[in-house]
Amino acid sequence: MSLKSLDTASESYDAIVIGSGLGGLTTANRLANAGHSILLVEHHHQLGGLATWFKRKGHIFDVSLHGFPYGMVKTCRKYWNRAIMDSIVQLKNIVFDNPQFSLQTTFERQDFTDILQNKFGIKNEVIQNFFSTIGSMNFYDDQSMTTRELFEKFFPGRSDVHRLLMEPITYANGSTMEDPAITYGIVFSNFMNKGVFTFKGGTDQLIGMMEEELVKNGVKICTRAKVNRIVIEKGQVRGVMAEGNGEERFIQAPCVISNSGILNTINNLAGKDAFPKEFQEATNKVRVNNSSCQVYIGIKDGEIIDDVGDLLFTSKAEHFSSEELLDMHTKSKTFSVYYPKTRPGHNRYTIVASMNARYDDWAHLTDDNYQQEKDNLIKRTMSDLEKYLPGVTDKCDWLEAATPKTFHRYTFHTKGTSFGTKFEGLDVSRSISKVVKGLFHVGSVGIIMSGWLGAINYGVIVANDADAYLRS
Ligand SMILES: Cc1cc2nc3c(=O)[nH]c(=O)nc-3n(C[C@H](O)[C@H](O)[C@H](O)COP(=O)(O)OP(=O)(O)OC[C@H]3O[C@@H](n4cnc5c(N)ncnc54)[C@H](O)[C@@H]3O)c2cc1C
Repeated sequence: MSLKSLDTASESYDAIVIGSGLGGLTTANRLANAGHSILLVEHHHQLGGLATWFKRKGHIFDVSLHGFPYGMVKTCRKYWNRAIMDSIVQLKNIVFDNPQFSLQTTFERQDFTDILQNKFGIKNEVIQNFFSTIGSMNFYDDQSMTTRELFEKFFPGRSDVHRLLMEPITYANGSTMEDPAITYGIVFSNFMNKGVFTFKGGTDQLIGMMEEELVKNGVKICTRAKVNRIVIEKGQVRGVMAEGNGEERFIQAPCVISNSGILNTINNLAGKDAFPKEFQEATNKVRVNNSSCQVYIGIKDGEIIDDVGDLLFTSKAEHFSSEELLDMHTKSKTFSVYYPKTRPGHNRYTIVASMNARYDDWAHLTDDNYQQEKDNLIKRTMSDLEKYLPGVTDKCDWLEAATPKTFHRYTFHTKGTSFGTKFEGLDVSRSISKVVKGLFHVGSVGIIMSGWLGAINYGVIVANDADAYLRS
């Protein structure tokens, strides 16, 4: 068993990583690979952060394994290992169904081009121009153009095209039409490269393989261990105060990498006073992204359901709007359908419905109202799912809902954010090591550094920074 309790940790390490999300895991692994002694501290009993799973009545539910871009293949091969890369497989059947259009796609550039041309009547020249414009966008570009302006430029007045292009991205990272067009361009181009992918074997297998790699590289992993404070003296990191089994202890390290949310890291773990005034002001301006609701549906052992697609973007709303997607009673949801092929050897079907959600809508309900709203969410979800899988309600033996409060409870993320922060969070995250020596942040920020691929890639970038610092 490689997950240990905090009392087994040594007194000092070269670096301490707080949190085992995909960003934290990757940073810990890269730094250990570079020869540093690393302690990874996670408050939950399992690793993965939002890349998580849970078991109920023989079912295994994946929380955030709905789809990631092709870029994961190269990233996993380069920064993890070949076995992890080999488990990445494409989701071939993505379905859109809403009052404006119904279609199936592989989410590949050629398929999208055909759909835009033949179903939506857009000229090929405009489509190619759009793809090459967003394909050439990069982080250092002008950030003043919004996604709405970008869409209006290429597809004026075409709310159906805007919906096709935007709805999956809003689900994927919470971005809206008012966010900078470059965040849309970078994320959409990633997905459009070669389609949408998943991890065969499920999240539990991926995180298990990552854990093995960490152990092989000598990372000390402590779970059920919470960091209460990052100790900083005279602008320099000294270590952390961490708690496990009800006991708090100091562990020394010249370098701390926090995978906790950026606002938690600054305001609660390090404490505002550790930062200069201008930095605090920049931090106060950081907006967090939305949170999520999910309904987990377990199909009885022995029951079969038809293949209706892997990922279904469904909506009964007449038009797309990010506000509608966020509404507590939204008419829009995605269904991820996990067939037995998802987890070879585990002969079960599960379905996870995901909705974007606002923390504040859920956080202040009375206990009775909270329970009532969760029950209603499950009822609405099942009624919507019946359209695609008639009779499914009678086939399931597990129904459970998660809300923004659930995501907050398990990760401590500010307002249960599912996708970190808006664009401005990236700059604050990148600057933290310039104002406190030895302190780094890794994790979902700025839209482009969120999601499975974004979090792992950011983990590599931050590991390089921390490695350079430790060697200097
Ligand atoms: C419902 C949902 C669906 C999603 N679907 C997808 C998808 O289909 N595709 C995709 O690419 N992305 C998806 N995402 C987003 C993706 O899961 C995240 O962007 C990514 O996993 C975040 O990684 P991270 O490194 O930021 O860390 P996180 O996963 O946020 O983990 C942070 C970790 O730090 C720990 N921690 C925090 N504070 C402390 C402390 N003080 N002491 C100890 N430990 C601490 C937490 O417990 C947690 O384990 C989804 C997210 C949600 C919520």
